[in-house]
Amino acid sequence: MKRTKRHFWRKDPMQRIKEKIVVDSNSCWIWQGAKSIKGYGRMQYKDTRWLVHRLAYTLFYGKLLANQGGHKCEVKSCCNPEHIEDQTNSQNIQQWYDNHFNRR
Ligand SMILES: [Zn+2]
Repeated sequence: MKRTKRHFWRKDPMQRIKEKIVVDSNSCWIWQGAKSIKGYGRMQYKDTRWLVHRLAYTLFYGKLLANQGGHKCEVKSCCNPEHIEDQTNSQNIQQWYDNHFNRR
């Protein structure tokens, strides 16, 4: 069993993500690493730059997000795949509206 760095994260990128997050009281996985200008976590995986929530979603569900994806928790730096929804932009906006005006 050779364990070069490369092999390490190729084998289990999810583990690599989990080493860089802090789980908060809402079970959000708050990314502690590099972030994009918009505030999303990002990391390199298989020579590609990923937004971490997209990568986590892809690894967790075994499929790519069709688009940017929405955060149900509205925490941009969160990358808990269970907080990510595959949705179109219009749904995204609708959900933002619902969260802000129809809740509580
Ligand atoms: Zn979250």
